[in-house]
This record gives sequence, structure tokens and C-alpha cells, in this order.
Amino acid sequence: MEKIYLDNAATTPLRKEVIATMLNVLENDYGNASSTHSFGRSAKSILETSRKTIAKYLHCTSQEIVFTSNATEATNWILRSAVKDLGMQRIITSRVEHHATLYTINALQKEYGVAVDYINVFSDGSLDDAQLEALLNSDRKTIVSLMHVNNETGCMMDIAKVGNLCAAHNALFHCDTVQSIGKTELNLHELPVDFVVASAHKFHGPKGIGFAYVKKNRLLQPILFGGEQEKGLRAGTEAVHQVAGMAKALELAYEHLDEERAYIQELKKYCVAQLQTNFPDIKINGSTTFYNILNVLLPFSEEKTAMILFNLDMKGIAVSRGSACQSGSVKPSHVLAEMLMEEDIKKPSLRISFSHYNTKAEIDTLIDGLKGI
Ligand code: PLP
Repeated sequence: MEKIYLDNAATTPLRKEVIATMLNVLENDYGNASSTHSFGRSAKSILETSRKTIAKYLHCTSQEIVFTSNATEATNWILRSAVKDLGMQRIITSRVEHHATLYTINALQKEYGVAVDYINVFSDGSLDDAQLEALLNSDRKTIVSLMHVNNETGCMMDIAKVGNLCAAHNALFHCDTVQSIGKTELNLHELPVDFVVASAHKFHGPKGIGFAYVKKNRLLQPILFGGEQEKGLRAGTEAVHQVAGMAKALELAYEHLDEERAYIQELKKYCVAQLQTNFPDIKINGSTTFYNILNVLLPFSEEKTAMILFNLDMKGIAVSRGSACQSGSVKPSHVLAEMLMEEDIKKPSLRISFSHYNTKAEIDTLIDGLKGI
């Protein structure tokens, strides 16, 4: 059975060149980057070259890139240190953030009593900018944490607009760019952001490696102790092969961005057209959405909700459910719960997320699969 992977917002397949880069490091550069002998120096050199590559494509300095195990760790570190060490008294966020952000904020609220304000989310997935501005009109030391591209709906936030508001009110700005890094141009020195986070596996790199961008002079303190790696900001022996794979993946993502983006945009357009032709009552969740994520509300009965993913999976098709109905109990997605009407939340929503490896023939198979349910 041919397998079809349309869940690229969850994770992406590795590029062959990334695997080759990693294998080369695993075989030949197994030194500990902290060792002073030639093996260690060679590993260290791979780390620093990788850091430079990442900084080059994101238009920042390599000193501003700190390697972490993934974006979840980077977000935990940034928000925790912002509260603990930079004295932030309040966090402004939204209820549609990834749990990496929301659960971290919950923990900080409990541990430090930090105040938390949630920005309203409209039914099209956009944020209430006026409310953000009103909230920022305060003397309290504030960090704003809002994501660039929502991983469930693809809804986009205007980084420059939010960042300028934050800067005008002396608030720090942490942006979860996990879904957009490697998929759109980001000039971190031009954008008014203080912190962004990334996970390599979202842009055809390996899992278990990511990074934080920390703008110069934002003096975060470590949350992990035990070594001087990453200038003491993130202790622990560096995963050199992972870092090399991540840098290669980011380089290839940006070198091929124009053609791959155009290809994926066309694929998404085709998918929307096919869905609308075959299921005229279909609704797209979110208005301004990123080019590789499509979240649709299917005109199927509630009883079919639980069966859709299972049925598609039996046919070898991997997509993700927008409204989660886990183990038979209807537990709506926290993102769609903020956007949809009560009756629509219970209906099946599907997240289809594309990469340049997908084809129109695969979309046709998905449509056939849905028609068979
Ligand atoms: N933020 C967003 C928007 C995501 O989509 C994800 C992963 O799904 C994360 C954060 C967390 O990434 P990771 O699990 O690689 O740390």
C-alpha cells in the first residue's frame, strides 16, 4: 500500500542531504566539542559553522543563536528566565498558543505568581490588536508571547505589527516561530522580536534539536546547570550531528524556498478546490492562513468524527484531526474551541499539512478516502 503523509505540521521527513550530513558527522566527528584535542576542536568547529549558517539565513549574529533540544525547551527557558531573572511581572499571550507556551505559563503563574492576560481570538483566528495595545498601556514589566503561525489552523500573526506595539510599550516579545522558520523569510534584525524558537524537525531536519534566538543584551540565565556549553546558557554535551543536520536542513529550506513554496501553494489550492467540489458544504477554519496548513470543517455527521482518522489511516493516509476526539471522548482542540461555534466544534475538522514531497495524485487519493467514509 502506498503511504501518504499529509501531516507536515506535526513533523516532516528528513531530506536525503540532511541524513548524509548527519551520518558523516556521526562516523567521523564523534569528538566532544568541549575537548581541547583535535577531535574536540573538529566537533566544535562543526557547531560554530552550523551556528553561522543558521544566523546567516535568519539575518542575525551567530552569538544570538543558542542550541536547545527543541522549541519546547527553548520556550520554557525563555519564559522562565524572563520571569525569574528579567523580573517580568506579567505575560500577555493567547489561548491558541501551543501547549509548550501555555503549560509553561501556567507553571510560572503557579510558581511565581506572574500575572497572565489572554488576548481575544476572533472566529477567523485573528487576534484583537486593540486589546493588546490597551493591555500594553501599563507600567508592569511585561513579556508578550504570541505565535507566528498557528500549528493547527495555519492562522498567521503579523510579527512586525505586534513587535512594534511591544517595543513602543517597552514590553519584551517572544514569538513561537516553529511553524514558519524555514518556510518563510525572517529577518531577525529587522523584525522587532526579542526571542524566537525553532525545532529542526519541522523543516525537514532531525528531531530532538532546536534553537532559541535571543536578541543581543537580553540577559537570560540558564535553567540547566552542569557545564559551560552554549556560553553557560544551556549545559550538556552538544549533539553535534543533530546541530549539523539542523543547519543543513535550514540551508536547504531557504535555498529552495521560492520554488518549494510556489509548489506547495499550488498543491493547497488544488486541495481546497477538490474538497469544495466534492464536499460543497465544507468550511475552512481560519481566514488568513499559512501556505502549508489547511484546516477544514467537514460536513460529516458527529458520529463519523471518531472514525475519520482511523479510516484514512487504514488507507495509509496520515492527516491530523483539527478537533481532537481522543479515545472516543470528544475533547475539542483548544485552538478551535476559541474560534468555532459550539455546534461546529463537535463536527469533524481535519488538518491537512503539506510539504514539497506531496503530489496532486496524493490529494486525489485523500479525497477518494474521504468520499469513502
Ligand atoms: N510550537 C509550535 C507552534 C509547534 O507546532 C510545536 C510542535 O508541534 C512546538 C511549539 C513544540 O515543538 P517541539 O515538540 O519540537 O519542541
